[in-house]
Amino acid sequence: MEIDPVTTETARRDTPVIVWFRRDLRLADNPALNHAMATGRPVVPVYIHDDGGRVRRTGAASLWWLDGSLRALAADLAGRGAPLILRCGDSEAELRRLIAETGAETVFLNRLFEPEAWTRDADIAHGLKAEGVDCRGFNGSLLARPGSVLTGSGGPYKVFTPFLKTLLAGAEPPPPTPLPAIIPGVQGLASDSLDDWALKPTRPDWAAGFAGLPGEAGAIAALEAFVAGGLRTYSRDRDIPAASGTSRLSPHLHFGELSPWRAVAAARAAAADGRVPGAEAGKFVAELGWRDFSAHLLHQFPAMADRAFRPDYDAMPWRDDPAGLAAWQAGRTGFPIVDAGMRQLWTTGWMHNRVRMIVASFLVKDLLIDWRAGERWFWETLVDADPGNNIQNWQWIAGSGADAAPYFRVFNPVTQGEKFDADGRYVRTWVPELRQMPDRWLHAPWTAPPEILRHAGVRLGHHYPRPIVDHAEARLRALEALRTVSRARDADD
Ligand code: FAD
Repeated sequence: MEIDPVTTETARRDTPVIVWFRRDLRLADNPALNHAMATGRPVVPVYIHDDGGRVRRTGAASLWWLDGSLRALAADLAGRGAPLILRCGDSEAELRRLIAETGAETVFLNRLFEPEAWTRDADIAHGLKAEGVDCRGFNGSLLARPGSVLTGSGGPYKVFTPFLKTLLAGAEPPPPTPLPAIIPGVQGLASDSLDDWALKPTRPDWAAGFAGLPGEAGAIAALEAFVAGGLRTYSRDRDIPAASGTSRLSPHLHFGELSPWRAVAAARAAAADGRVPGAEAGKFVAELGWRDFSAHLLHQFPAMADRAFRPDYDAMPWRDDPAGLAAWQAGRTGFPIVDAGMRQLWTTGWMHNRVRMIVASFLVKDLLIDWRAGERWFWETLVDADPGNNIQNWQWIAGSGADAAPYFRVFNPVTQGEKFDADGRYVRTWVPELRQMPDRWLHAPWTAPPEILRHAGVRLGHHYPRPIVDHAEARLRALEALRTVSRARDADD
């Protein structure tokens, strides 16, 4: 049979390419999308809801954010000519189905670097390649690709400051790419409906108090508002939970609604033209550096997902304390700053960084409960729950992580409250039963004289719990537990 070369060539040019969206839910600065569009072929954007198969099940609060983010992405894509295809099931099976439906020969994607997704994606790419389908992966989520920031001897960094220095010296900011005006798509392909996925809670709608605007437009708006406002005094106000002193970009960054380079560029531009002091922009960029550090560590040391990064810490004699864990989760420990944080988390899906540190320290040190229990609760309840950041920060607090806070440094929840919430605004917002308490006793209501409590309408053990531990005793217990770790280490040496 004779093959008409013109027709074949036309058919090849019309063969679509697939862009597999995952945690890169944006159209600007999206390397996978840009490379797909550069082929000149029609683009089939797909999102596959593949939850709990080979990767960790997404937490409930994150699903709420994902729903909004996918709706925004779908609208942005449809408006440009390329409807988003939604599929639910095993990623590889769904991709293969879509490849069969479209005849696509190339899949473009931005890589996920956490171990489970990384291995799954490598297997998928391998399997598809055997059938002549190319998977082309890019880094769209981090300032630098894990594995590209190495010490002089070629190993991974375990200490943050030199990591950041090398990262910022070496990583080349990619040229910004704007929102494409038109994306040539393919019409008529079958897609699920987001409503059928029921990602958002309805009965009851426990997410009614969640804040933030998921999606790329919301991400850009949050960045612009922060650069025009909080960035100027970031290093001072970022530790005050009652202030709007931080960017609130974490869920936007987690879901890839914004490139981290765009956040860096915006901060640096504001410093360059004198809108904010250079040191403030630098501090913000350093925090974004922690995000990269966390992701690089988890990629390079995959065992830290559920084992202590410093193995001797696996000997820690954690307590089994379901009642203590439940009181912590519910924000009923009797320590106002801890309870305020846990209630902010439950109500809004987000918690201020300073308070995350305080509540995490309380769990692993005052209650001596395994950091993995806290990590799991955060995973379920944070809209920004992120594999690298969550695990790295929990291990940092537990003392078992890379470049971690020493375990023997135990946060005192009372003095932390007095220092960072001196006027009590944060506690009074989230623990309304203490609203009438004078500042002096707000962070330790059990020390207040009976007439002060009576006057404030607080009966301890009735309106508000008595402290579930004695901090001074709990601190000694934590330090004694640490000695077990040291003994295990000595025995190994
Ligand atoms: P900003 O202060 O405006 O910082 C800008 C960005 O830098 C953040 O959005 C975030 O991407 C990054 N960043 C800031 N602080 C850190 C940090 N300590 N480590 C890594 N990256 C950082 N952050 C998450 O995104 N997801 C998590 O699951 C998560 N779990 C945490 C668990 C614990 C126990 C602790 C102590 C911290 C955790 N963090 C986590 C880090 C931090 O609390 C949040 O990133 C920050 O509070 C988000 O608010 P923001 O965007 O206003 O931060």
